[in-house]
Amino acid sequence: MTRTATLPILKYHNLVRDGLLAGLSKDEVLEGFRLFIKRLSKRYDICTVSEALNRCQNGDRRAIAISFDDGYQSYLKDIAPILVDMDAQASFYVCTGLSSDKQLMWNDQILVSCLHNKQLTPTLAKDFLSRYQIEFKQTSSHQPEFLKALERAIKYRPFKQRAGLIQSFQQQFGLSDDTRTLELRSAIELLNTDEIRALHQLGMEVGGHTVSHPILAQESAEDAHQQIISDQQRLAKILGRSPRSFAYPNGWHNRDFLDLHKGFVEEAGYEHAVSANYGISKLDGRDQFMLKRIELPTSISAFHLTKFYLKHWLS
Ligand SMILES: [Zn+2]
Repeated sequence: MTRTATLPILKYHNLVRDGLLAGLSKDEVLEGFRLFIKRLSKRYDICTVSEALNRCQNGDRRAIAISFDDGYQSYLKDIAPILVDMDAQASFYVCTGLSSDKQLMWNDQILVSCLHNKQLTPTLAKDFLSRYQIEFKQTSSHQPEFLKALERAIKYRPFKQRAGLIQSFQQQFGLSDDTRTLELRSAIELLNTDEIRALHQLGMEVGGHTVSHPILAQESAEDAHQQIISDQQRLAKILGRSPRSFAYPNGWHNRDFLDLHKGFVEEAGYEHAVSANYGISKLDGRDQFMLKRIELPTSISAFHLTKFYLKHWLS
């Protein structure tokens, strides 16, 4: 019996920011990443999602994809040089509506207020959120747990409401621009259009991730459609070619996006899409618009790697 082809895609987020928040230095994070890529490339060819998909469909079990969500500058300055150096490639999913200078992702806007305002306690956050009928149960002010709890509380608000809420949060608690947080600040800045193009020119894949990162399932069909279609058009203009790959914001099927949105992605001209559903996709031709991924922590231990190898080789 022939084996169904499988496609392993690893999923990273902003590992420099997450490492700094966890108390690591940027050098430690990047050294760990370099080591991981080195180990991984002994067994695999590290590719973009589009290339790995093509190769895996043809039964190639040496291909593996790495993907990074949200277009952080750190991907161009810190991550891409390591990949190029190790002869590896990856896919990066960017939001074209957040690509003008000085824009931050919504969760990083919360982060800069928390860093600025040391008096911001769980009780104050609870009072603030109660004005929006949001319950907040976190009692520890220890970061990053406090920050994660704030993000969780706000994440699922419809996009416009969430943007308004964050704006008044920043007005009330301030914004950080002091030098202590400069390193973190530079880790959360997003790529502008020239930088997106530069990433593409380094041989990396740049894929769509909506205009402004709403949770699609929380939006009207019309708004979700516009978020996907006009992002694709903007990205095609920036890259000078149609992007092939798309990633759903937040990415859990039937929670963050629905079958309806898969149709919009296909209509936009994408060839496939990645989700945040955990696992390794079987390429049996059924669904290329909901590819699974394996999310990796900031620091990858030998244990994580072994667990992954087992999962892949047994799948
Ligand atoms: Zn994202």
